[in-house]
Amino acid sequence: MKSQALTLFDLVERLSLLTRADLRQAGSAQGLQPVHLQVLFYLNQANRFSNTPQALTEYLGLTKGTVSQTVLVLARRRLVSRYTDPRDGRVVRLILTEAGSNLLKTLSAGGAWRDIVQTASPARVTSAMVVLRQVLAQVQAQSGKRSFGVCSTCRHNQRLGPRSYFCGLKQEKLSSPEVRRICREHAAPTPHPSLPDAN
Ligand code: SF4
Repeated sequence: MKSQALTLFDLVERLSLLTRADLRQAGSAQGLQPVHLQVLFYLNQANRFSNTPQALTEYLGLTKGTVSQTVLVLARRRLVSRYTDPRDGRVVRLILTEAGSNLLKTLSAGGAWRDIVQTASPARVTSAMVVLRQVLAQVQAQSGKRSFGVCSTCRHNQRLGPRSYFCGLKQEKLSSPEVRRICREHAAPTPHPSLPDAN
């Protein structure tokens, strides 16, 4: 009998293959490859500190050359726009255009996930997310990869008020929508010294 760890690995691997096939199908209808859609999905959730080609190479695990070719195609299709960082002329930043956002809305990727989440109990969904997040965090830590976590869970995130936050690392204010985005600089919270280790 398979160990639970191997079963979980097989499930994630199978889902990953099927998701890739779905992306290929969804992209082909638009004349795009899966990597083009992955860049659009990333830019749709990245915060303003993470919308660079370098962050894309790290998040997607691709080479600089592949990312720059991919961005070129998306820019030619007017799905992504490039601009120079007003505070640092050496940095190029990327943003989804309205056409890029609209294209993402037309894709049905993730439909099965939504259906299951709507019918499963919230407790089971939360348990699944906790396990998957722990595995992801461990794999990222073992391979020295950045976590690209959600801003609201970062140790640098300070709550100033009901809808006001502050990034201790960048020393900048953050809005409510911004703290729901993922960030290249995300750092896991430091465990509270008085709390027992969850593991
Ligand atoms: S608080 Fe953390 S995740 Fe949020 S912007 Fe700052 S470094 Fe990034």
